[in-house]
Amino acid sequence: MTMRETIPTPSVRRAALALIVLVCGVCAVRAPLAGTAAQEPDFSRAGDEATRTLQALVRIDTSSPPGNETLAAEHVQSVLEKADIPSKILALDPTRGNLVARLEGDGSKRPLLLMAHTDVVGVERADWTVDPFGGVIRGGHLYGRGASDDKGQLAAMVQVMLMLERRQVPLARDVILLAESGEEGTTEVGIDFMVERHWDEIDAEFALNEGGQMTASGGAVETVSISTTEKVPWRGIKLIARGTAGHGSAPRLDNPIVHLAAAVAKVGAYQSPMRLNETTRAYLERLATMSPPDVAFRYRNLENPRLSASIQDQLREADIGVNSMVRTSISPNIISGGFRRNVIPAEAEAELDIRALPDEDLDQFLATLRELIDDPAVELTAPTSMRPAAPPSSLDSELFHALEQVQQQMFPEAVTLPTMLVAATDSAQIRAKGVQAYGVGMIRDDLSGVHGTDERVSVEGLELFVEYLYRVVVEIAGAD
Ligand SMILES: [Zn+2]
Repeated sequence: MTMRETIPTPSVRRAALALIVLVCGVCAVRAPLAGTAAQEPDFSRAGDEATRTLQALVRIDTSSPPGNETLAAEHVQSVLEKADIPSKILALDPTRGNLVARLEGDGSKRPLLLMAHTDVVGVERADWTVDPFGGVIRGGHLYGRGASDDKGQLAAMVQVMLMLERRQVPLARDVILLAESGEEGTTEVGIDFMVERHWDEIDAEFALNEGGQMTASGGAVETVSISTTEKVPWRGIKLIARGTAGHGSAPRLDNPIVHLAAAVAKVGAYQSPMRLNETTRAYLERLATMSPPDVAFRYRNLENPRLSASIQDQLREADIGVNSMVRTSISPNIISGGFRRNVIPAEAEAELDIRALPDEDLDQFLATLRELIDDPAVELTAPTSMRPAAPPSSLDSELFHALEQVQQQMFPEAVTLPTMLVAATDSAQIRAKGVQAYGVGMIRDDLSGVHGTDERVSVEGLELFVEYLYRVVVEIAGAD
């Protein structure tokens, strides 16, 4: 879905909020915006402050490698200090520190963890129209590497910590902020280090992390995507064909190029079995309610035994995002072999991009592929690295209900879409420790430039996200 990057005007939103208060005044639902207007936070000021924090964070170049995330952690520390919130920086590598801060609750419920990473991917500076580390605001957008992934989220979370502390919001849960390093490919200094060596600092019942987004159209938020699980990239799996080297004038039956080509063709044609989980099933159901009739029909009948096979064929051709969401996907993306036209090489190889469903059994899956390839001359290697697999976080948890409730308060016309990410985040490590982790995010569209050029966020969208996050955190962690 491509949505225009627009957000509701404050007056529209306020009218919508007023309506909800009225509705809830006559129903049994706990009044979501209890208290008088004077007790409401000034979200516009909070948005301004978060924007300044984000600008400062963007100006600290934490491109990884080398990262230098300690500089960003120290900046966050100085911002928190202004509200007398203590924090510590924990580091495996002194230049790549992780910041942890904690606001204490009354202990009646287990903690909530807010997490965002401080490292960013590199830039191809020549392609940018602004300085990627300048924090430039232009046309209502703040530009810069990390503005969207993931420093915007970090700035919003820092802001929520400031607001909770300054307003002395009574808390049932500890609220922990983790600004971790190394998310973009060097998790050993970041989330792995924190989980293995400092778990007591971040142990929580629930976590909010990157991985979701909002889409908007015609001035209104339409969808609020919350990721509850993610596919597991199995990195470095290769097909390696081996044969006998020889002269190209005398073709051989064991030519590894021929064997590799046959194996790649089989793997490329293979569709692993479709398997929905609670999240993908709910995603498709809710997406159907906002899709054109023919698309909705496909989503609603995907598991209909009579129609499933033909619908799956249609998805494979025309809805490749959904097709990948319902199965472990395999894409052969690099192939190499041979060096001279007249020499039969001894070896040829292809690398596969495999994104596994969260519950996929690695050994069994590889065994299935080996059976399919059915060629002793072709070896299928095991992955060289992978994030841990974990069950999806529940759609029936206190935090997921809070996320839906705040969406209904702030954006009554929108839909909360539980999603399974096809990309990987640090939530994998947290879920593997039993935490119910959910990915949230700001308004984003195809032009947000995540990992690309001119990455940016809408300044108004950041303010809106601060409000959303604050309300969710108060709902889940506040004391009644
Ligand atoms: Zn990220």
